[in-house]
Amino acid sequence: NRPLLEVDDLHVEFRLRGVRIPAVRGASFKLELGRTLAIVGESGSGKSVTSQAVMGILDTPPARITRGEVRLQGVDLLALDEETRRSVRANHIAMVFQDALSALNPVWSVGFQIGELFRVHRGLSRAEAKTRAVELLDLVGIPDAKNRVGHYPHQFSGGMRQRVMIAMALALDPEILIADEPTTALDVTVQAQIMRLLKDIQNDRNMGLILITHDLGVVADVADDVAVMYAGEVVERAGIRDAFKRPAHPYTKALLRAIPRVDTIGQALEVIRGLPPNPASLPSGCPFHPRCFAAEDQCAEAVPPWLEPASGHGSRCHFAEEVYADER
Ligand code: SF4
Ligand code: MG
Repeated sequence: NRPLLEVDDLHVEFRLRGVRIPAVRGASFKLELGRTLAIVGESGSGKSVTSQAVMGILDTPPARITRGEVRLQGVDLLALDEETRRSVRANHIAMVFQDALSALNPVWSVGFQIGELFRVHRGLSRAEAKTRAVELLDLVGIPDAKNRVGHYPHQFSGGMRQRVMIAMALALDPEILIADEPTTALDVTVQAQIMRLLKDIQNDRNMGLILITHDLGVVADVADDVAVMYAGEVVERAGIRDAFKRPAHPYTKALLRAIPRVDTIGQALEVIRGLPPNPASLPSGCPFHPRCFAAEDQCAEAVPPWLEPASGHGSRCHFAEEVYADER
């Protein structure tokens, strides 16, 4: 039984004036049909670049995939010719971005933009395409969809626009939906509604959903699995409950402590000291060591191996077992 999506040892680098800067360094993860994977990390951790590589919207310089495989139901997308790859992706993988306003075309009605997908990829007539667009807008919870289908992006609120973009992403029935910070620009209530919508759609359609976020808190209730990224690497991978209950990497532990909770309102949040490293000059050994509360001398010298303190729960830390056992 092949996983829906397997990313294996993915390496992506940027080239700036002849200098090669690693953006993703050996990321691996799996997504099963009907499941939700959260990819979590600070900005610059490589999480967006990873999703763009999967989506195939990165192939142009200066970013380049230098190694690895992206397998969709067993087929390595990176080994396909450009045209086949594009059509495979268009029909199987869709993406929702943080900023709907820049992802949508301001001069066309939302109905036209959604309908265009049906006309181009499914050969539907203008009238049929419009009917489908209305159905989709209705599905994503836009009230009065029949009337709203003729409206332009700027006529929608931020949350409604995000729903429009989700409708558009669903048009070609993707098996995989990738949402990159889909709720970051929205207020907290709307955030929760959009997350709920994505989750409901994922359930109904039995899709694989990848949620990219800097905020572990927003995915707690919707993700099944989590991959935590730091400095271009996946540093922890686990079932979401396991990761919350027994993190096996100090970075995940620190991220969890930074989530605001009802019982800590009014107290200063424990924030992770320092900044993520510059990918052009990564720290020696474990790249997290300058910020790590659990670091020892060896952390600055030796690159930590991938350890699995429990089955299906891995961490790139010399002391993964101890962190997992909450002894660090
Ligand atoms: Fe911290 Fe060392 Fe583990 Fe890196 S290897 S996360 S520095 S304890
Ligand atoms: Mg990003």
